[in-house]
Amino acid sequence: MTTTTATERRMFIGGAWVGANDGTTIESIDPSTEEPIGAVPSASEADVDRAVAAAREAAPAWAATAWTERADLIRELARRIDDAAEELARLDSRDGGLPLAGSRGDVRGTVRELEYFAGLGGETKGDTLPGTPSQWATTHREPYGVVGRIVPFNHPFKFATGKSAAPLMAGNTVILKPAEHTSLSALRLAELVENLLPPGVLNVVTGPAATGAAIVGHPDVPRIAFTGSVPSGRAVLRTAAEHIKHVTLELGGKNPMVVFDDADPARAAAAAVAGMNLRRSMGQSCQSNSRILVHRSSKDAFLDALTDIVEGLRVGDPLDEATDLGPLAFEQHYERVLGYVEAGRSEGARLLTGGRRPDHLTRGYYLAPTVFADVQPGMRIAREEIFGPVMSVFDWDDEEDMIRLANDVEYGLTANIWTNDVHRAHRTAQRLQAGTVSINGEGRKPIGTPFGGYKHSGIGLEGSLDELLSYTRSKSVVVNLHDN
Ligand code: NAD
Repeated sequence: MTTTTATERRMFIGGAWVGANDGTTIESIDPSTEEPIGAVPSASEADVDRAVAAAREAAPAWAATAWTERADLIRELARRIDDAAEELARLDSRDGGLPLAGSRGDVRGTVRELEYFAGLGGETKGDTLPGTPSQWATTHREPYGVVGRIVPFNHPFKFATGKSAAPLMAGNTVILKPAEHTSLSALRLAELVENLLPPGVLNVVTGPAATGAAIVGHPDVPRIAFTGSVPSGRAVLRTAAEHIKHVTLELGGKNPMVVFDDADPARAAAAAVAGMNLRRSMGQSCQSNSRILVHRSSKDAFLDALTDIVEGLRVGDPLDEATDLGPLAFEQHYERVLGYVEAGRSEGARLLTGGRRPDHLTRGYYLAPTVFADVQPGMRIAREEIFGPVMSVFDWDDEEDMIRLANDVEYGLTANIWTNDVHRAHRTAQRLQAGTVSINGEGRKPIGTPFGGYKHSGIGLEGSLDELLSYTRSKSVVVNLHDN
């Protein structure tokens, strides 16, 4: 943390651009050069109080607008984002290290997400329940008021914007807190909503975990939606318990990809690389299939194909069109991922490729995509979320053992099954403990598919109608008719 600098950005509270009230900032570092590219305010509790007051003031009028009017505004935001798409993508590539293919995909996806939720607004409806001729009940969906929306670093613009769409469409005002290492595109979002949404409807508050904790602990923020790691999610739940808040959590994953003996090893290897999201985010993805469980009979062919593809990926400047993988997002995370590579080595896994900064790169948080084979279930790289370009390959020959191994982690976010046998595919899909299972895919899914975690991977569903409805409370109104 430093004091004010020339490149300091401001946060967006109640339609105004403000610094932190104590003047502190957090430097934004370009992970490809390790050089500062700006600074964002480090909001204190007093700043969060100010944002909550602005959001509360704006809430009644925003809730009272017709949903069609809110939808028009969200669609206009989507148009503005589309117009600024290339600039936004470049900003995330610079601030977060995402290769252009990844950051452009994020912006495109965000536009679609805004349009999707704009179209769903009329679904925030209720029911009429049968009773007797003189008594029946209706249900009505009402917004919570102020929603705290806390997002992680890995898809900065996509999460800041896409995850604000549903709470806004449901008629809530929002306090958005981006991750401290990748806040620049969320502040650019604020510029795009300025003069579009009424002041106080969307507030962007920057700062570290403590800023997020102040939002979660604030008594006037009744609904918290958190995307981040399991330990942070636990802390959020603990704080929220004090105020009995409605909390949804989208947390980490250690997702299995199962390759049966009848799957083509080369196609499965290509899907494993795509499903790791190496080219989108260097494996910094909650959905990455970072544990690959290959049938022993295909293991050698699979590992040969996997190593070939991975070694052909180009690591370098995220703003270079030819780059497949940029740097990891920030230094502390880079060190953490390198720590897992070291743990894999020292615990006896076989390093097939990667494991270090490529020779042609002398600075930046770069890591060559890394494959470990002969991984054993007790190893740290088998159990803990690495959130980087590190794949752990196991082999198996008994289906029961494979299912046990696949489910033997605290997480349960996604899973991926490769086989040509429809019976095996569905049998396995039923038994894997994961919120989303792909069959012969690489993790991509149609828009509107509910997404959420089993076990410690989270509470609640997003990306679907469930998400929109989760930002409403249902009120039952009982009607009694009397003769006079
Ligand atoms: P993180 O938990 O460190 O931080 C996420 C956000 O929460 C940041 O804005 C941070 O400042 C804030 N924060 C941290 N502690 C907090 C607290 N106690 N109270 C309130 N706010 C707090 O996560 P990260 O390292 O930024 O992101 C990586 C994690 O996010 C991985 O575990 C990844 O799997 C997960 N993730 C999950 C999904 C999903 O949809 N399930 C999507 C993306 C990322």
